[in-house]
Amino acid sequence: MSPENKTAEPVDLLELPPLAGLAEDQVRGAACVWCATALSTDTAVNLGGRRHRRLDGAYSTFPRACRPCTRAAGIRALADHAPLCEQCTDNPSACADGMALQRLIREHRR
Ligand SMILES: [Zn+2]
Ligand SMILES: [Zn+2]
Repeated sequence: MSPENKTAEPVDLLELPPLAGLAEDQVRGAACVWCATALSTDTAVNLGGRRHRRLDGAYSTFPRACRPCTRAAGIRALADHAPLCEQCTDNPSACADGMALQRLIREHRR
């Protein structure tokens, strides 16, 4: 067991589209950040709070997404991460980030 016991939140590893290009209901979490599909509590995947900096301080948004987009973003994030990660090249099952993304991709299969 690792003494750090770092629990990677897989959704934190996903790259979200820039806020400036989003519609208001996407920023509010009412629609998927990627495909703009209207979300219900059943279908929405919570992407966690994101902090944004502004001239007069910082604010948070709580974006959400549909399951297929979350899965696709997980696949993209893993494809970006794995080739650059020494741990994943060596032994993917020892990389907390890599494993978190794999879990996310599995969980949102349908
Ligand atoms: Zn979507
Ligand atoms: Zn890795």
